[in-house]
Amino acid sequence: MSEDFYDVLGVSRDASEDEIKQAYRKKAAEYHPDVSEEADAEEKFKKVKKAKEVLTDDEKRQMYDQLGHERFEQAEKRGGVGGGGAGGRGQGNPFGGMGGMGGGQGSPFDDIFSQFFGGGQGGGRQRNRPRQGQNIRTQVTLDLEEVYEGVEKQFTITRPEECSECDGRGHPADADVNTCPECNGQGQTTTVRDTPLGRVQQTQTCRRCEGTGETYSETCSVCGGDGITREEATLTVDIPAGIRSGQTLRMEREGAPGENGGPKGDLLIDVEVRDHDEFTRDGDDLYHQHPISFPKAVFGATVEIPTVDGTTELEIPAGTQSGEEFRIRSEGMPHLRGRGHGDLYVQVQVVTPESLNEEQKEALEAFAEAGGEEVDVTEGFFEKIKNSL
Ligand SMILES: [Zn+2]
Ligand SMILES: [Zn+2]
Repeated sequence: MSEDFYDVLGVSRDASEDEIKQAYRKKAAEYHPDVSEEADAEEKFKKVKKAKEVLTDDEKRQMYDQLGHERFEQAEKRGGVGGGGAGGRGQGNPFGGMGGMGGGQGSPFDDIFSQFFGGGQGGGRQRNRPRQGQNIRTQVTLDLEEVYEGVEKQFTITRPEECSECDGRGHPADADVNTCPECNGQGQTTTVRDTPLGRVQQTQTCRRCEGTGETYSETCSVCGGDGITREEATLTVDIPAGIRSGQTLRMEREGAPGENGGPKGDLLIDVEVRDHDEFTRDGDDLYHQHPISFPKAVFGATVEIPTVDGTTELEIPAGTQSGEEFRIRSEGMPHLRGRGHGDLYVQVQVVTPESLNEEQKEALEAFAEAGGEEVDVTEGFFEKIKNSL
């Protein structure tokens, strides 16, 4: 499931505070553990609550939009978000803990700071900090039948991997190590700039050595020094029964490699369910249109209705009108991570025959006459036109 706070509440990224609160009330009512029968209702409820807390707090929401979900969560874990983290706020400095310049002790403001001032990868202090790798997105397309049962799906992606030749170092293990001439081994370079907030001393990661302070006599011939290569990987994901188009599955630690020994990012799989010839889907309910003959509509009948995994029988009562809808309980899609199924709604269409044999014509004529109706069965409407030309 997508963890993104906007997705969790089902609102757009530019939703107003009112819209967010409204969405929250709806979701909270749906997932309240006292009310919902869904197995993971409590967890969902907590997520919804958390999403609302962040998105209705201007400062936090701005930071969330800036950082994105992953980095926001990480920043929050480090205690940087909200209240305590923004120590310098009283001094008219909108970036709180920025005072120390690159000495922000891993606060999320480092990231914001470097975005605003076009800095490199944060201050030197952070250069060796382990960072989680990027998340990667991919898409998987499924048939309704697969989603009905739940399925193990194999797929292949091309993703960045740590170079196996150099173990991600970017240079052969036996290459000579030199002090970086650009930064004299400091790993960072410093410039002074005037900004709207005053004079700012900006520390940037050294471009030559990328912050390591060292250069090597040789670069890895396989990855060209990046430490990363793009590789094909074939993975298997468990598709839970009942998943819908637009939902996202997460495979933890199957994303891009982390930096400085940080963990891999996640692989996010956007689910797309193909349209089906027989059924349209609305949530966990399915809709099916079923043709029946005029006599069956008149006298009533038991008809065989397709279901996603077989067939079932439906009693059509005598005197059924075209367009009437019948519900077959529990023949819809399974509830995601819950028990039970949605329903199958069958709309019957009474079919008017396009051609009749002699016997049928006579019978229908007799039927009409018995009802006091006059019909001309010798020529059809189009034949009449044809003959008159
Ligand atoms: Zn350097
Ligand atoms: Zn390499």
